[in-house]
Amino acid sequence: MDNQIDERYQRGKVYKIECLTTGECYVGSTIETLVLRLRKHTNKRNCMAIQIIDRDNFEMTCLELYPCDNRVQLEFRERWHYDHTPNIINKQRPRVTDVERVEKRAESVKSYYERHSEEINTQRKAREEAYTETRKEEDAAKQQEKHDCPCGGRYTHTNKLKHERTQMHRMYLATLIEEN
Ligand SMILES: [Zn+2]
Repeated sequence: MDNQIDERYQRGKVYKIECLTTGECYVGSTIETLVLRLRKHTNKRNCMAIQIIDRDNFEMTCLELYPCDNRVQLEFRERWHYDHTPNIINKQRPRVTDVERVEKRAESVKSYYERHSEEINTQRKAREEAYTETRKEEDAAKQQEKHDCPCGGRYTHTNKLKHERTQMHRMYLATLIEEN
């Protein structure tokens, strides 16, 4: 596709529609004349250019005559202008490949983390502290949990040894031995 030759693209050109009220710009490319292209823009309501055209205070200029072999080449040139024109309102950068899209997404995630690193670290720390706190409370609760002993008494984890030395518990053990 990139190396196909289509003679019509010898008339390739990149144009800009600039709003003289807001300074917003729309960049496009075509093999038609600018007059014809503008007429088509006027009828195409779903294109961003219509916002500028509707305000009716704009200038359409040819940024570059770009004779080339095909649409792909022309769109890559359009993309160069897209990247170098301020206040662009085009919805999409022309000819963005899947690889570039993935890279861009990764980049924006990375820059998000960079911009919010302090916030993210603070939140993580708070989560860790809350977790530690919860664990401490759970541990404390576990320490206080009462266990029923076969002797009929009860003991908590921390005073198990103490319980085993109580008269009640030792009596129980003694009865066990007697029964056997
Ligand atoms: Zn006991």
